[in-house]
Amino acid sequence: MTSHNIVSVSGGKDSTATLLVATALEVPNLQAVFADTGNEHEQTYEYLDYLEQATQTKITRVRADFTHRIEGKRRFIETKWREQGVTERVVLAALAVLQPTGNPFLDLCIWKGRFPSRKAQFCTMELKRDPMLEQVVMPLINTDDMILSWQGVRADESINRRYLPECDEVGGGLFNYRPILKWDIPAVFEAHRYMGIKPNPLYSQGMGRVGCMPCINCRKDELREIALRFPEVIDRIDQWERIVQQASKRGAATFFAGSNAKHPKGSIADMTALQVMEIASIRQAVEWSKTAQGGIQYDLMIATDSTACSSAYGLCDSSWEQTMILEAA
Ligand code: SF4
Repeated sequence: MTSHNIVSVSGGKDSTATLLVATALEVPNLQAVFADTGNEHEQTYEYLDYLEQATQTKITRVRADFTHRIEGKRRFIETKWREQGVTERVVLAALAVLQPTGNPFLDLCIWKGRFPSRKAQFCTMELKRDPMLEQVVMPLINTDDMILSWQGVRADESINRRYLPECDEVGGGLFNYRPILKWDIPAVFEAHRYMGIKPNPLYSQGMGRVGCMPCINCRKDELREIALRFPEVIDRIDQWERIVQQASKRGAATFFAGSNAKHPKGSIADMTALQVMEIASIRQAVEWSKTAQGGIQYDLMIATDSTACSSAYGLCDSSWEQTMILEAA
């Protein structure tokens, strides 16, 4: 029986540490895989090139493709929207932007006619888990081989992760393996130091996490940092918002979807947490991010724990321990 060791790499510190464990152990048939959302910072792409070269491990890049689903959505709009009495102006506007761009994040949002949100976090599955499963894991299943899916998650990141086992069987010869589950942050950076590997440089530029830039679960202070250091990222999201709005039946879509405190469907609980301000665009969110605590307060993520951007698969790096990050940089 052959064993395959597949390590999910995001460019963040935990998945890098996980890859370092695998390389140090010289496990057989090692495959590092990066699911490219298309919403990553340029420095993360450069870091992956560096990591590939420094560890002498090829990192396979996978990307979701929404071409067929966008085609299906076009047919749906041409028939159903018209049957539903949606105005011709809205139908034509949507059809004009419902074309695959080749950017997975944008294409996902065009197809859905909305951005993901904390309550509907379909991005992790669509952009990370599924392409990895379909393009890397599934072809190996049912071949009598054992497939270990290495995941860089740590128990102290969240309650959800605290009770994860170090190893569990998914079926078909596939197992999840979480070698750094019991590690703390210093151990993660120590692994970098020990192996002579630099952490992603974004950690030393005010970023508490590495992954999508921005993540839909971005914190207020992080958004402020992004706007300050990488204004081109805000410009890109601003442009995306205009495109996705056009693909939306109600003509409205904001990157921080679900953060609209005045949304008529907002629950009382949301209203309490979200308080008084309406954020309808990334530009407004950036303006808000510059406000001081005690002034207009508006929590984009409702809760600010480290689980905000997490999947059980460890596909979205999500730690916020700024002190350690800066120390290690
Ligand atoms: S990093 Fe954030 S925006 Fe990107 S896939 Fe994960 S949850 Fe979604």
